[in-house]
Amino acid sequence: MSVGKKDQKGMSRRDFVNGAAASGLAAAMGDLVSTATPASAQGQTPGEPAKWDKEADVIVVGSGAAGMPATIAAVEAGASVILVEKNTVVGGCALISQGFLGVGGGSQAQKAANVVDSADLDYAFYMDFKVRENRRHVPEVLRAFCDRSGDTIDWLVQHGVQIYNPAVRSHSIQWNVMGPGWLYGSSPTRKSSGAGMIKPLEAAAKAKGVDIQLGTEMTKLIREGGTSGRAIGVTVKAGSQTLNFHAKKAVILASGSWKGHKYLRSLQDPRITDEMTGTGYPFINDDGMGMLAAIEAGSIMTGDRADDRHVWHRMFGTRYYRFAPGQPFAAPGIGALGQLSGDDMSYIIFVNKAGVRFVNEAAGEATNGFYDYALAQPGHTIWTIFDDAAAKKNHWTPTPPTVEPNMAFSASTWADLAKAISVPADALTNTVTEYNLYVDQRADPDFKKAQIYLTNKIATAPFYAVAVSLQVHDTMGGLPINAKAQVLDIYGKVIPGLYAAGEVAGSLDLIGMPKGVVMGRIAGEAAAAEKVSL
Ligand SMILES: Cc1cc2nc3c(=O)[nH]c(=O)nc-3n(C[C@H](O)[C@H](O)[C@H](O)COP(=O)(O)OP(=O)(O)OC[C@H]3O[C@@H](n4cnc5c(N)ncnc54)[C@H](O)[C@@H]3O)c2cc1C
Repeated sequence: MSVGKKDQKGMSRRDFVNGAAASGLAAAMGDLVSTATPASAQGQTPGEPAKWDKEADVIVVGSGAAGMPATIAAVEAGASVILVEKNTVVGGCALISQGFLGVGGGSQAQKAANVVDSADLDYAFYMDFKVRENRRHVPEVLRAFCDRSGDTIDWLVQHGVQIYNPAVRSHSIQWNVMGPGWLYGSSPTRKSSGAGMIKPLEAAAKAKGVDIQLGTEMTKLIREGGTSGRAIGVTVKAGSQTLNFHAKKAVILASGSWKGHKYLRSLQDPRITDEMTGTGYPFINDDGMGMLAAIEAGSIMTGDRADDRHVWHRMFGTRYYRFAPGQPFAAPGIGALGQLSGDDMSYIIFVNKAGVRFVNEAAGEATNGFYDYALAQPGHTIWTIFDDAAAKKNHWTPTPPTVEPNMAFSASTWADLAKAISVPADALTNTVTEYNLYVDQRADPDFKKAQIYLTNKIATAPFYAVAVSLQVHDTMGGLPINAKAQVLDIYGKVIPGLYAAGEVAGSLDLIGMPKGVVMGRIAGEAAAAEKVSL
């Protein structure tokens, strides 16, 4: 299989690196060339490149939620590490995440907050057969995850991560933001951000002398004998150079999700159409290179469709979720972070291309919830309709730069608004008239919107229409791993010297950072304990 070159929106990876990352790339290149180590044992076994440009015991690919714990754990276990990161800053999606960490296990932080939790309680919680997705955990991997959870939170704290105590609860903590980390989080006033974990870990890795190669993209895994032997290194692209890095002990893939790769994500859910962006884009471009390289090297992608998982986000007036171009703290869009929730739904209705409602606006995210209806609308065209009274009450400003150009319209009549958004005027007018009647009656016979949301008529001009974009947030499944985070091949056998953690790894049906931090740390320790292969 050839490795895909295009990301979402048709950008090549090179465009992304050249555009978003140009300045840091230059710096990284200088470092790379000047510190290249002499080749060792070159070209002696099949599969080995003619020349190694660098070498270390362990190569970690990706510097996010999984990569940083993997890196530090490997170094602390005595290994030398090269950390390969295609972006120009350390942190991946973890850096811009909200900072909720669903990791329990009986950590010291939980004990200090009088929360009763343990590895056994966690394991029982995640194995509850009544929760449908729990059937997808591989029990031995889940057991390892639970056994190391509490201790990993303690370890994060030892490395400078501050836990935001009031939010400590069973199976979940929230950490506090550190120093300037909020620059990458949602807003300067928020207390929680993944930067609160990444920044201290980055400082720890630097203090321990990790060779961090920014602007350096892994494009291929190298196995001895081609596709049969140990993983012995990676091929990377750094600027115009193609280089080979030798891993004397192991390679750890911590390259994140593949939600920006059109084909791979469509295997998970064909409703994820090409024009959809992924959350975190363009700061993070999850193009699935790690996954593709592992498949080329003999592994496989696991996981079935995410029918009962929340894998999408709805954004109002923007195509981005967090970190849009030119927005230092957050994406534009009406509502906090471009999203509406809860009570907001009492002020709006959604209409499709035909100008009619199609869903209970306040429907949740579960199966047959909002997203299933939204994804079924032609072209995913969805308009949020509200009036001036709602805009004033909620302090919504549906004009640029709060919303993106051409994603919000207003007019003093329904007919003019309908024309502006190209929906049939009669249909839109009837839809709003009917909805206002439902508010009077406090009953929605069409979609059963709950009475508590049927409180506001949409009647005060000017009227507004704001586009809703649907975004991919999580991809589930990934490379099969065992309890040590070793990657398995298409026959279920360990690929020697190859580890994976975080979103690129499957075997745990957990969303977000938890499986990254815990399994990343496990991978780092296990990789460092491998014997040196020459
Ligand atoms: C806006 C937002 C908010 C979120 N909030 C939360 C939250 O509150 N709680 C939570 O648990 N999760 C949250 N998540 C999800 C969470 O951030 C991710 O699940 C988590 O960071 C995944 O960890 P990872 O290490 O697998 O990937 P990442 O943290 O994304 O790191 C992967 C890294 O690998 C690099 N990389 C990829 N391919 C290559 C390559 N070929 N060569 C070199 N480097 C490569 C990437 O550039 C990236 O730096 C959020 C995500 C987003 C986008």
